[in-house]
Amino acid sequence: MPRLSELTDPTAVANAIDEFHTLGRDAFLSRYSLEPSRDYFILADGQLVDSKPILSVAYRNQYPDRGLLPVSDFSGGTGGAVRALTRLGFTTTTPALHQPPILGTEYRSRTEIQSVYGGDKVAGIIRFPGDAVVNVFSDAEGPYADDPPTLVEPFGYRGEGLSGPQRLDRGGNARLESAFQAEAPVRFWYRPKGEPFRFLTWVAVLGRAWVDGEGQDGLPRPEIEWQLEAVPGQDLRTWPADIRAAQVDSLQTVENNPQVPEARPNAPYADLIARVEQRGQGRRSTGIVRTDYSRSAAARRAVLDRSNGRCESPRCTGMPAESNRRGEPILDVDHVQDLALGGEDHPRNMVALCPNCHACKTRGARPTEWRRELRKLAAAAHDAAMMNSSGVQ
Ligand SMILES: [Zn+2]
Repeated sequence: MPRLSELTDPTAVANAIDEFHTLGRDAFLSRYSLEPSRDYFILADGQLVDSKPILSVAYRNQYPDRGLLPVSDFSGGTGGAVRALTRLGFTTTTPALHQPPILGTEYRSRTEIQSVYGGDKVAGIIRFPGDAVVNVFSDAEGPYADDPPTLVEPFGYRGEGLSGPQRLDRGGNARLESAFQAEAPVRFWYRPKGEPFRFLTWVAVLGRAWVDGEGQDGLPRPEIEWQLEAVPGQDLRTWPADIRAAQVDSLQTVENNPQVPEARPNAPYADLIARVEQRGQGRRSTGIVRTDYSRSAAARRAVLDRSNGRCESPRCTGMPAESNRRGEPILDVDHVQDLALGGEDHPRNMVALCPNCHACKTRGARPTEWRRELRKLAAAAHDAAMMNSSGVQ
């Protein structure tokens, strides 16, 4: 049986590459009825040359009486074709290493991205062959109800895994976790509804939280909410200092146990509050306003639970008829007193507002009046929810 290890003559490989260049890729492949490579290539004269077809033909060049080396007899990856080519003195590469994705380039579909960069199916969170960079894909029409990304503030990205509890230790979430731990830049790809996919921006992974979610099977489950923020580029030296500081901070406080109240579907209000207050304690104060994503997930969840899906403003003139991407009422969770102005990250300083009331509070002519009223309301709603919550326990 012919074996790849019998290929020992670099000239046989060089001649195959010459023939490839002379004929052109398509003619070379069709002459020998060989399939194109997808992941690993030889880099010859600055061009990508299909690795397995070359090895197959090189074998015939070295042993003319034996014919082509069957491509089914060896792997095209690092253990097979790549190792043999390195042994024979050739340079190998992958499309993503040779020509990394360029910001803004459009691709009609995930299949097109896969045909350019190789690798397995382009799912939620992947690496391209040979490339250490993690890629996050967000699709406005995809199975995940991701919020559209914003380039000016942190945004959420729901973890990978359609049904059953999401896991940090495997698949895409494990990949993104490794980027988070390494504080490494991540490519963020986005496809708006009815438009092509684009490598939209580099992002930093600011942190993550376990939150209460629902799988495609309709069952409640813990999900990972990743917090991403756009950064100016791949070079960490260009990143704003507060982004690096937020990463370092959240690496120290990150929650690995998915059984936290904010990830339990029926967690009582009081449990969520205990969680908010517990995480608030004992944190070092460095003078920089930082966000603890687990804590704010618990606080947001408590306020939304408390609101029963209704705008909490006493001046509300009506909720939007439309629901959000998750089929829930459209509500913003607002800090009555801004965090940046020293407001507390606690449900007694937070209200659920419909978009109209939120706009009135932040952009209306009487912000002081709105704040005063809402502060009272938030405190009262919080007390009432605590009473109810402890009453049923
Ligand atoms: Zn309202």
